[in-house]
Amino acid sequence: MSKIFVLPKLPYELDALEPVLSKETLEYHYGKHHAAYITNLNGLIDGSDFANMPIEDIIARADGPMFNNSAQAYNHTFYWDGMKPPTGDKDNLPTGQVADALKEAFGDFEKFKAAFSEVGAKHFGSGWAWLLKNKSGKLEIKGMHDADTPVKDGDTPLLALDVWEHAYYIDYRNKRPDYIAAFWQLINWQFVENQLLAPKREPLMLPVEQ
Ligand code: FE
Repeated sequence: MSKIFVLPKLPYELDALEPVLSKETLEYHYGKHHAAYITNLNGLIDGSDFANMPIEDIIARADGPMFNNSAQAYNHTFYWDGMKPPTGDKDNLPTGQVADALKEAFGDFEKFKAAFSEVGAKHFGSGWAWLLKNKSGKLEIKGMHDADTPVKDGDTPLLALDVWEHAYYIDYRNKRPDYIAAFWQLINWQFVENQLLAPKREPLMLPVEQ
């Protein structure tokens, strides 16, 4: 019997990101969309060469539906982990080594925020805005289409922003820039720092015995 992936538990309750993201959005986005990627992935890996691999290894080797479902399973886990309940501090500024790294790469935090927001807002169609550390150790902002993910290229993801319509349409309808403006209140900078400083990336998702 091959192992299967399970939908990772959210690091907070479904209503914990309100008022920025509603419980209804998380019920659909996490409970339906993310869950479906994992169900589809389990159907695809069963009996295949990809059975029993960490998700990063599947993403690196797969194409077609196997790539799309493994990458979306990964991307959504990363997106949820990169957020935390809002505290009422609308600025929610990074501190310490993340603040220093963003300043070094982009000039200052406001410039980074503007550039990342623009990549998310102007991305055409479904996809993601990523902050990543590339193989030379440099921080970069990248817009990626559909399921595409920095893990495929061997870069280290630091922060993910889902700009698929399913991420914001219940709460913000067609106003993607409003969703992005509100997203900054939710960023879990401690998670970003952990990714930035980790000497080696641990597998984000491992299949388990049924
Ligand atoms: Fe999504």
